[in-house]
Amino acid sequence: MTRGDLDMGYADMGYELDRRQLLRGAAAVAAGTVAAGALPAGAAYAHGTSADLVIHNGRVLVLDERFRTAEAVAIRGGRVLAVGRARDVRRLVGRRTQVLDAGGGTVLPGINDSHVHLNALGLNFPPFSYGVDTATIDELVAVVRTAVEAASVPGSWIRGQGWNDNRLPRPPRRTDLDPVSGDHPVVLTDFSFHAMAVNTAALRLAGITRDTVPPPGGVIEKDADGEPTGVLRETAQGLVRAVVPAFTADEVARSIDAGVTLLHAQGITSVTDPGITLATLGLYADKVRAGTLGVRVSALLSGGTAPQQLRDVLAAYRPLRGIDPRVLRVAGVKLFADGIPTAAKTAWLHEPYLDGTNGSLVIDGTTVAEQVANLHEMIRVAVRAGFQVGTHATGDATIDAVVAGYLKAMGRDWRRADLRHYVIHADLTPRATLRTMARHDIGANMNATIKYLLGRTLDPVLGPARTDYQWPYRSALDLGVRVTSASDAPVTYPNWLQGVMAAALREGMVFGGAGGGVAGEAERITVPEALATYTRTPAWQDHAGGWKGTLAEGMVADVCVVGGDVLGVDPHELVNLPVTTTVVGGRVVYERSAGPVATTEAAAGHERGAACLRAGKCCCRLADELRA
Ligand SMILES: [Zn+2]
Ligand SMILES: [Zn+2]
Repeated sequence: MTRGDLDMGYADMGYELDRRQLLRGAAAVAAGTVAAGALPAGAAYAHGTSADLVIHNGRVLVLDERFRTAEAVAIRGGRVLAVGRARDVRRLVGRRTQVLDAGGGTVLPGINDSHVHLNALGLNFPPFSYGVDTATIDELVAVVRTAVEAASVPGSWIRGQGWNDNRLPRPPRRTDLDPVSGDHPVVLTDFSFHAMAVNTAALRLAGITRDTVPPPGGVIEKDADGEPTGVLRETAQGLVRAVVPAFTADEVARSIDAGVTLLHAQGITSVTDPGITLATLGLYADKVRAGTLGVRVSALLSGGTAPQQLRDVLAAYRPLRGIDPRVLRVAGVKLFADGIPTAAKTAWLHEPYLDGTNGSLVIDGTTVAEQVANLHEMIRVAVRAGFQVGTHATGDATIDAVVAGYLKAMGRDWRRADLRHYVIHADLTPRATLRTMARHDIGANMNATIKYLLGRTLDPVLGPARTDYQWPYRSALDLGVRVTSASDAPVTYPNWLQGVMAAALREGMVFGGAGGGVAGEAERITVPEALATYTRTPAWQDHAGGWKGTLAEGMVADVCVVGGDVLGVDPHELVNLPVTTTVVGGRVVYERSAGPVATTEAAAGHERGAACLRAGKCCCRLADELRA
């Protein structure tokens, strides 16, 4: 796909709304009802009507509550004009209609990845950061040489990640990097985040010499002559981190475009970017005004970890003006309540980890009671301001504290307020809590792709029962919880087909010879159910079920075409199906060129994700670190 695809003007996408329409649209978004412009049934075939785009020769999954299927879909003015039998839809093909052959594949509503750190996603990839998980030092050096050649600013930092000294014969040294790095400082973090390799320029900028005393818990590796080799371990990495500049606003803005390109190639047309700063919100707003934001973004503002932080954010926040809420909307705030239940053991559990330790809340406070009180106060402040709240909570004790806070803050009036709070990750939500969530329309935002990465690797940490139960999709759906799925990219690669596969099979990826096998047969869901967690239900979560998330007539024309029969194939094969076309607001933003599915980038992304989960670095934290 070309750069030009990003420069889509929303005027071309059916977004040329006058003020009245805009207000009507906003009201419809708020009410979650059918948006302005929905077509009355039958109007599509009125004499002389022709479509802008017709997609045929595929199985169309409307993904509405009735799970309607169809043979073709017609699009006009950025909306679904008709969906039905091929011979009926064909009547809408006029002289200027673009006709797209789905090649016998599957036509779905555009995918909604409901938890993606879009503002950090692109920063994981060149030119912002280079993958250096190579088998040899020579290959690693070649990557650095490429990065240096591509760098446009003299003396700019070259960043890389993923080297693995289990795979390499030894860690990379400055003497490897210096010959190719010119005046560019180079910093390469290893796969585990426990070590980094830097060149001489970086050592110099960090002021590290043969005489530097490492901070407690840190190692500055030295050669036989006592000179630093460039390898820094544990806390010694902080000496260099302190001098690596944060990405500039311009770099982040460009990385968002790169991230959107990557999402389009996955058929993703809507995302929630959780926990953004007001500055990042400004970047998104600028893109919308310039007509260059290629996906629909629901933003959760970062609420911090203390009530005063949240109050400060809300005091500084100004509602967006003159921006179509269907393209960019502040949905609410994101709170961060605990860690993750991996080997890092930072999720807060009712029953400790197998080794007897436990995680904790990460909310400010000197006692658990104080932390819970602060968490509940933050939820109350957000809810009183009329915000939806999404809270990162993975351990069962944390989830219970969060849901209790939601109930308290929602009060008796919750149905009218209709804020649709949710638990982000929701790994170990107890069954009783799922029941409470279902009764109060509290959603669960789960991570099938992370389940795939973890497989059975947590058996020695959580024990087999909790490992099986982690992300209880089946239980949650059976109890009536609104379940959404999300990649948490850049934690995993945003490959929703892999998520559908994992939700249906509960099979883990084999990573370093471990992790495979089924984890939680009882929590399997069907492929159609999994598809709803990526389309219709996140639209509900976005208060947008009336205008996106299904391919019914009148809905916005966000479409994902998959080259293969999503419902018919063995679920193991889902991950091998290519996304062939992506349409946003009626406009084709991605078309796959012929050739094999590009899985190498995805595989590399997953390996990195698995490694970072093991290091306990993941979730929303990773994104923050990438930005810092
Ligand atoms: Zn998280
Ligand atoms: Zn996250």
